[in-house]
Amino acid sequence: MFSPIINNQSQRTNITSPRSSGYRIRLALLLLLGGLGACKEGPHIGSAPRMGGQLEQLVRVLLENDVTACTVKVGASFEVGIETASAGGEGRKKHFEDIDGAIEIALSGGIITIGNEAFEGDEISIKPDRVDVFGLGGSDYRGTLRLVVNENGNSFDVINHVAIESYLSGVVGAEMPNYWEPEALKAQAIAARTYCLYIKQRFGSKRKWDVGRTQAHQVYRGVDAESAQVRIAVNQTKGKVLVCKQANGDEGIFPCYYSSACGGHTENSNHVFGDSFAPLVGAPCPYCVEVARPKYYFWPSAGFDNKEVSEKLLKNYPKLKRLGQITDITAIEQTDYGTYRRLTRIKLSGSTGKSDTLRAEDLRLTVDPSGRILRSTICEISKSGGKWVFCFGRGFGHGVGMCQCGAQGMARQGSSAEQILEYYYPGSRITGAR
Ligand SMILES: [Zn+2]
Repeated sequence: MFSPIINNQSQRTNITSPRSSGYRIRLALLLLLGGLGACKEGPHIGSAPRMGGQLEQLVRVLLENDVTACTVKVGASFEVGIETASAGGEGRKKHFEDIDGAIEIALSGGIITIGNEAFEGDEISIKPDRVDVFGLGGSDYRGTLRLVVNENGNSFDVINHVAIESYLSGVVGAEMPNYWEPEALKAQAIAARTYCLYIKQRFGSKRKWDVGRTQAHQVYRGVDAESAQVRIAVNQTKGKVLVCKQANGDEGIFPCYYSSACGGHTENSNHVFGDSFAPLVGAPCPYCVEVARPKYYFWPSAGFDNKEVSEKLLKNYPKLKRLGQITDITAIEQTDYGTYRRLTRIKLSGSTGKSDTLRAEDLRLTVDPSGRILRSTICEISKSGGKWVFCFGRGFGHGVGMCQCGAQGMARQGSSAEQILEYYYPGSRITGAR
């Protein structure tokens, strides 16, 4: 089953805070207790993988954040790279052989322990030797693994460095069923490539990673999501992205949002994420209703306890604390599509008599962060029996950009990937390898 895509502007903002560049740079091998087999020193850390003689762009995917331990499967042997920024970017390598199964990695007291070896440092890479795959959290991923200690020194992030086309196979297969039409899969590959590169370009220089692995960006399930159909879609669109005219008059990539099932009409991005790009103004979509299962397309009423909704809102948006307990939620802006409306801005009134407004999409993902119960903002809000009730729901996801079910519907009717993308991102054009 495809996943709803929730590319939420405020979520992205929340997770873009760059870590301080003042990492501790002192690195030392502290303990050598044996048990991991032979180790040997090597030269400093290598560069990005090359595909067909050309350097392929890397994507840095945040797999885990703020953890103190994880278990990694690395195959029989692997290499640990330790970067030493204090030494002008030079680094060291440690090589581990005769590994049997998984290794435990933990951080405690500023020391990262890999198996029975301990390292003090800020950034450590792990690269399996003979296979381009490692396992983490029950999934397998291509590329290399980076452990980046957070500023407080008490936790670390786990980041996957992977060639973009490999990354895309792990996205397309997670975002769409692989048995869908080849042209829908190709449209998905181009949209996902464009979105990833836009987020990388916009936020990547400010942090140690480019994109998350969840629906907050786009779902990435690594090797598990790969299949022959998906690899073909990615290969046949290799390097292709969508561009449009930017505010400064130049052509460039844009946040190529997409979502599961728009419910009949895609939405203007400005109403949902607050950004303005010409291809994201919204388009009628008669296609998804033929593809999405009725129980997903028309979702059942969902009730949420008044007090819990209040607590969640005040926690996510401290500015609302002055409202006190939320006593009323009303829609003040919506897009009217005739027989249904998508809520875009809501007014919150509180027990103190004060009020404030919020984007409806932000309310949705605050009330239901999974997005799987309160599936869209095409709904009506009422108060009943101590609950806020969201009813007459329609569609799945934020509704901006390509409708994935709609893309499948168009492909079934014979549309090409290019036609699908032109339909959902009007005024954009596909350009070749970047
Ligand atoms: Zn649709």
